[in-house]
Amino acid sequence: MIETVYYIPKHEISDKQCREGMVVEPKAIASLIRSARRPILITGGKLLEDENLVRYAVKFHKKGIPIVATGASSKPLVENGVKPIFVSRTLHYLTQYMLDESWKGFDGKGGYDLILFMGFTPAYLSRMLSALKHFSNVVTVSIDEFYQPNAKFSLTDFALIVRDELCIGCGNCVIVCPYNAIECQSIVKNGRRLTVDVRFCKDCEYVFCADSCPYDAIEFRKGGEIYYKALDVILNNL
Ligand code: SF4
Ligand code: SF4
Repeated sequence: MIETVYYIPKHEISDKQCREGMVVEPKAIASLIRSARRPILITGGKLLEDENLVRYAVKFHKKGIPIVATGASSKPLVENGVKPIFVSRTLHYLTQYMLDESWKGFDGKGGYDLILFMGFTPAYLSRMLSALKHFSNVVTVSIDEFYQPNAKFSLTDFALIVRDELCIGCGNCVIVCPYNAIECQSIVKNGRRLTVDVRFCKDCEYVFCADSCPYDAIEFRKGGEIYYKALDVILNNL
């Protein structure tokens, strides 16, 4: 089955009103990393229980991003051939260290301008990110599965999947979308009908498009496999 995955930055009313952090799609995070002068990845203890996260941390390392490991996350990294540039017992200690006025980065050459976080529990990371807001020149980016309101940018794990082969181009989804976010192109290209395009989705609360499709051609997915695919998109765009 041919599927097209559209990653949708999530906007909730409460986020807009109360939070600073933006939820962005994977390619936007890749672009932030590419434009950073000195990015680093800080890993947390979840790596010990999720071998997928270890695999992705290793891939980020292979792309030239140094790793700072906290908690038990250094163990699986070292076992997979990655030597962190710094190891801290907890993110709390590390944050204190970074907040120290004399902090010159982990190699003494000065600070980092983009910090990626992966493998943390949401509430804990949120507290540490709140403290790190003192670093106005550092872009904090959560690439964990959950929205981090205190990170400047968080990875979206919200995606609309369009099963191109099932779509007959009836236009129901186009009509019900409150944001006119869907384009329907009933033309045939390379023997295949071009189907709906939900690039402009505003992540409405009810996902009317999926509910209105008589052919189950649109599906909303979140977390799990979609999250790891999003990490793939970041890595493929570095
Ligand atoms: S109906 Fe809602 S979820 Fe579907 S494309 Fe429109 S804004 Fe996005
Ligand atoms: S409602 Fe379903 S079948 Fe109709 S255009 Fe939308 S995705 Fe295609």
